Amino acid sequence: MFLSVKEMELRKVRFDETFEPGQIEFASENLQQVSPLHAVGSAEVLKNSDGEVRVQGRYTVELEAPCDRCLVTARFPLDAGFDLFYQPASVIARDEEIEIDEGEAEIGFYEGGGLELEDILREQILLALPMQRVCSEDCKGICPVCGKNRNQSACDCSTSKVDDRWGALRNLEI
Ligand SMILES: [Zn+2]
Ligand SMILES: [Zn+2]
Repeated sequence: MFLSVKEMELRKVRFDETFEPGQIEFASENLQQVSPLHAVGSAEVLKNSDGEVRVQGRYTVELEAPCDRCLVTARFPLDAGFDLFYQPASVIARDEEIEIDEGEAEIGFYEGGGLELEDILREQILLALPMQRVCSEDCKGICPVCGKNRNQSACDCSTSKVDDRWGALRNLEI
């Protein structure tokens, strides 16, 4: 859905959209969308601004990705809100010295008369996912000796903490 600034100049644009898996590309991020993505919100041009747009809303979606530690498929249900500000890209062209201070870190830019809701949602979803995608906080991972998933069965391989540390050191030297 294209959020047109021309339309926002007439009225606040409201959206209530559902995107089925496949409509937004996540595969390149090693993610699979497994539920419809539902997003509700609004987009408006801020009064007395140079075309600054505010997009607010909420979305729910569920994604899957292989666990970083054990490779089993992990589920990530997301239910999050967003409140974003975008300036027309022409503003930077006009004033190259534009300074973005810490408080304005959330400001993005748009060109071509508006924004694609799909792009906004994709970016928000990627930001909302944890840095470490694990099936559970205490996932024990895969045994480096025998390759078994330690969550499913304990193995007899002895990898003491001391050994692990030496292993890490050895890797560093290479
Ligand atoms: Zn895991
Ligand atoms: Zn083992």
